[in-house]
Amino acid sequence: MVAVETAVADAGRDFIRDIIQDDLDARRYTEVVTRFPPEPNGYLHIGHAKSIGVNFGVAQEFSGRCHLRFDDTNPTKEEQEYIDAIKRDVRWLGYDWGEHLHHASDYFEQLYEWAEHLVRSGNAYVDDQSPAEMRAARGTLTEPGRNSPYRDRSVGENLDLLRRMRAGEFPNGARVLRAKIDMASGNINLRDPVLYRILHAAHPRTGKAWCIYPSYDFAHGQSDAIEGVTHSLCTLEFEDHRPLYDWLLEHLPVPSRPRQYEFARLNLTYTVLSKRALTEFVRQGHVTGWNDPRMPTLAGLRRRGVPPEAIREFVRRIGVAKANSTVDVGMFEHAVRDTLNRTAERRMAVLRPLKVVIENYPQTSEEIDAVNNPEDAVAGTRKVAFGRELFIERDDFMESPPKKFYRLSPGREVRLRYAYLVTCREAVRNAAGEVIELRCTYDPASRGGSAPDGRKVQATLHWVSAKDALSAEVRLYHPLFTRPDPGANGDVFADLNPNSLEVLADCRLEPALAAAVPGKPVQFERQGYFCLDSTATPDRLVFNRTVGLRDSWAKVQAGGAPSG
Ligand code: ATP
Ligand code: MG
Repeated sequence: MVAVETAVADAGRDFIRDIIQDDLDARRYTEVVTRFPPEPNGYLHIGHAKSIGVNFGVAQEFSGRCHLRFDDTNPTKEEQEYIDAIKRDVRWLGYDWGEHLHHASDYFEQLYEWAEHLVRSGNAYVDDQSPAEMRAARGTLTEPGRNSPYRDRSVGENLDLLRRMRAGEFPNGARVLRAKIDMASGNINLRDPVLYRILHAAHPRTGKAWCIYPSYDFAHGQSDAIEGVTHSLCTLEFEDHRPLYDWLLEHLPVPSRPRQYEFARLNLTYTVLSKRALTEFVRQGHVTGWNDPRMPTLAGLRRRGVPPEAIREFVRRIGVAKANSTVDVGMFEHAVRDTLNRTAERRMAVLRPLKVVIENYPQTSEEIDAVNNPEDAVAGTRKVAFGRELFIERDDFMESPPKKFYRLSPGREVRLRYAYLVTCREAVRNAAGEVIELRCTYDPASRGGSAPDGRKVQATLHWVSAKDALSAEVRLYHPLFTRPDPGANGDVFADLNPNSLEVLADCRLEPALAAAVPGKPVQFERQGYFCLDSTATPDRLVFNRTVGLRDSWAKVQAGGAPSG
């Protein structure tokens, strides 16, 4: 079981900001340039948001700049759809790369020239071994590798073969260009790593210009150097690549000298943040797409109603550290709730309706003032229709209530929010014995929700006027996984929660919700935060629950079922 972080980190200073401050103080660099380097082979997720927040955040704080650079070196997996989505999502998160939109593919010509440079200086060679032979000769963590029989080719022969690789003379996998470093190195990344491979595939940007493509390692540091990146901030899995990053920069006539620093990836309980797994969930139909509101992608979170400032705040709270850890997803929801509590307007919506008839209310209706946001006086008030027939939440009535149930039951008086005190007189049943309607009376002197004699009621219920209410579908999202550490037993698919989506088909909403728009969540009083779905139409309202009002994860940890 992983240690789960539930506390708020000290969000001020961290080791990366300390390093940068030192570098500036010592005048090793005079400006700060970072980059966020996604591979366009999937949508961005909340883990990427951490990296974006760190890279763009650091640049902002030190008055530097952050580049958006697509690491587009593998045309077989990369697509324009992903490039567009990534740009949209970074912008939505609130960051701006200005003129600095770059692609590793912008540098293909320069990278190739540097490959020839390494060949000419005796630091790279063309290897004809098959991928299997190369793998077998690579050694293990405890055994050194074996030199390739092609390792000592002449510079002339290597140059000729490299040029013919580029010219398209050889099929995929026939040859590779490798750096000539040390097959016995304790660091496997230094055992003559592959710099170029043959791939006869069209590239979204360079088309058919190339049939050899640089490896991540050969592209990354050199791209950093070309762009004048000073601090190349990446996640811990690249720590063992750093000696290669440095080796390449030292052996090439690059225009600047960036440094790589690694920080811990974000891991979240009940969440999978592997693009490969997320791609499969989409492909196999376990979710409806990359923007399914159950997905941890920025597109999914946006559709669900999570505001970008909540994601930025979450990233700030978790901080940046050097040790891997797993963050409680409850911390994320906490940040979402904190933001929405301040910003979301309140509305009334009944998710599981039960009809109420106020017997002594005239056959008319009236408009009642309701507060839009008690946390924000500027949000003002709105009118809510009140009438003789209403809906309340089915759960707010019990015919034979247990001791601590203070809501509606026969003979009990409660407050209808903003409106009146009402007393339940009788529950009407259908032939099957189910309660289908409550007959109530109201106190006409209690308008606004309090009685002139000051008598107290224990509960305040939300409600909607039956004849004015809008019908809507409301989607409640439960965790996509049944365990906090999905995949820990080796099969992430086995841990998918078959009940992650709960659809309530016949919800009733106050009429003001006709003005709801995607991307602007509201609080349904007593229920949680909800957001109009991007697929909704005026004839078919669909709301997504962004997050409940209370921490449902505490209950999960105590052994109960997550309610989302
Ligand atoms: P995959 O999930 O397929 O391994 P990736 O996470 O490496 O993909 P990239 O597009 O290469 O995806 O990531 C871009 C940047 O985002 C990299 O610098 C990477 O370190 C960072 N990043 C990715 N996942 C996380 C995460 N969970 N937490 C923090 N940073 C992350
Ligand atoms: Mg990657």
